[in-house]
Amino acid sequence: MNPVIVAALKGTEQIASILQELTGKQVEEGWSPFNPLCPVCGRINRARLTGFDATRETIDFACECGESGTLPMAGGGKLTWRIDWPARWEVFGVTVEPFGKDHASRGGSYDTGTRIVREVFGGEPPFPVPYEWISLKGRGDMSSSKGNVLSITRMLEVVPPEVLRYLIVRTRPLRSIPFDPGLPLLSLVDEYDDLESTSRDERALALSRAGGGGSLGVPFRHLVNVVQIAGGDVEETARILERNGYGNLDRALLSRRLEHAKRWLEEFAPAEMRFCVQETLPPSAASLDKEQKAFLAELAARLAAGMDAETVHKTIYTAAATVPQRKPAQLFEAIYIALLGQPRGPRAGWFLTFLGLDFSARRFREAAGISEPEPASGR
Ligand SMILES: [Zn+2]
Repeated sequence: MNPVIVAALKGTEQIASILQELTGKQVEEGWSPFNPLCPVCGRINRARLTGFDATRETIDFACECGESGTLPMAGGGKLTWRIDWPARWEVFGVTVEPFGKDHASRGGSYDTGTRIVREVFGGEPPFPVPYEWISLKGRGDMSSSKGNVLSITRMLEVVPPEVLRYLIVRTRPLRSIPFDPGLPLLSLVDEYDDLESTSRDERALALSRAGGGGSLGVPFRHLVNVVQIAGGDVEETARILERNGYGNLDRALLSRRLEHAKRWLEEFAPAEMRFCVQETLPPSAASLDKEQKAFLAELAARLAAGMDAETVHKTIYTAAATVPQRKPAQLFEAIYIALLGQPRGPRAGWFLTFLGLDFSARRFREAAGISEPEPASGR
């Protein structure tokens, strides 16, 4: 950065007149494009630049705290925003630059940067791609000055970086980018990961992979359920997925997705998405009535090895039809209570298939009171 810092310092007057011309604001007396970082009070906005040495690449400063001296340009402070931006275009050879729409306004930092890079640094400005605000569901536009932010660090704990790139790239320029870390996040990652999804934007997908990051091939909403079935264990998750037709998965990618899935469950998942498969018959199963028990016994008898989720789904309804005294909803509750100790859970046909039909049938028999207690960890 030192050569552009020197160029900016030499061009101080020229930059000041560009800023005045385009922003209409008077630049104050003694203004400098470089803010020294005072080594004593540690503040960057209290020290003034009093001189510089282009050969030794140092700056002189005097601070309101009383300190003064000489500092290296590198690390001794920084260019102010409107100069720092074009300086980086020049240093990195930037050809295309996406940025928030606030910088695109008339007299905004893109306008001043364009003149500064041409007239002071002798370069060309990058092609501009202004984008709209990223809005946080239920909280309005993200704004660091209003404190309405989800930091990129926290966001990346729940969204893989390539999926976040996909979110930005698939949105047309100047359209607002809605980000909802709750259930819609599942659909977003699904769109990226599910090879069969029809809503994928293939071009955005290719562009978002510029920095690496493939598709796992397993819908993320499956993953958040399977990782819970597996009690959070990566190997067990891989085994369950393989048993259900998701073989040859990229193991490193799977581990990364599972970290995101677990974090999402902890931080953003609605309560009804969380569950824990009980190792033994939950105490609440004692509250099941005679009809619910009859249904579970009937279902256990009808479940057969090799059934797929769709078949299990139909089988549940066939079994439910043998207990007309109870509404299907009450019978579904019996399934979840026997397995999870709570009245709700993932879609039942899918859930029993992934959990294992053997394990499920044994548990239903026990809940119905027609078999001995199963040994713990019998899956
Ligand atoms: Zn100071």
